[in-house]
Amino acid sequence: MIERLVLASGNAGKLREFRRLLTPLGIDVVAQDELGIAEADEPHVTFVENALAKARHASRHAGLPALADDSGVCVAALGGAPGVQSARYAGDPRSDARNNAKLVAALAGQTNRRAHYTCVLVLVRHADDPEPFIAQGYCHGRIVDVPRGSGGFGYDPHFEVDGTGMTGAELPLERKNAVSHRGHAMRELIAQLRMTQDGARAWQHG
Ligand code: IMP
Repeated sequence: MIERLVLASGNAGKLREFRRLLTPLGIDVVAQDELGIAEADEPHVTFVENALAKARHASRHAGLPALADDSGVCVAALGGAPGVQSARYAGDPRSDARNNAKLVAALAGQTNRRAHYTCVLVLVRHADDPEPFIAQGYCHGRIVDVPRGSGGFGYDPHFEVDGTGMTGAELPLERKNAVSHRGHAMRELIAQLRMTQDGARAWQHG
């Protein structure tokens, strides 16, 4: 079984969530920037292509199995925007505050507040792994104008998670992982690893 992997992200919020999800499995997560690995380009129009590019890049440079997440918030009234552009919705340099301000402005006067987070996880055993593990998760909710909470990251203060009455920034980490797109995708990925006999063998011998 895998004991150590590189996380293909420099996002401190994601790292915190992944560590909490993977540590109980005995998997040590090292962030790519702790190894001096620069971020990969994300030129693609789908989450899955970007996640694969990030995973390959991190694995190639670290010489370790790599886990990549590509995620974003998709807003119904905006035709799915910001979507894959979520991190840079308001341009460079990346800023959660400017992204959130742009989102709230884009929804001014809009009654349809439905949105979902999407997360695609890709796990490669090595950079040229022909059989990457791929999992997807969603979290449904609605965008609120007034931010609430101080936890989470990104759009969380403006994203009220269905069935909780709380924004992602109000949910304690454990609870966010239980309901989030990333938590759902991670549980699916772990199930795939456990169920795939070939995968299990490859981990042991690869
Ligand atoms: P990525 O690092 O290119 O995958 O960008 C993902 C972006 O989507 C982040 O920078 C956030 O803006 C947003 N995002 C993804 N997941 C979450 C979450 O759980 N909470 C809040 N924002 C998120």
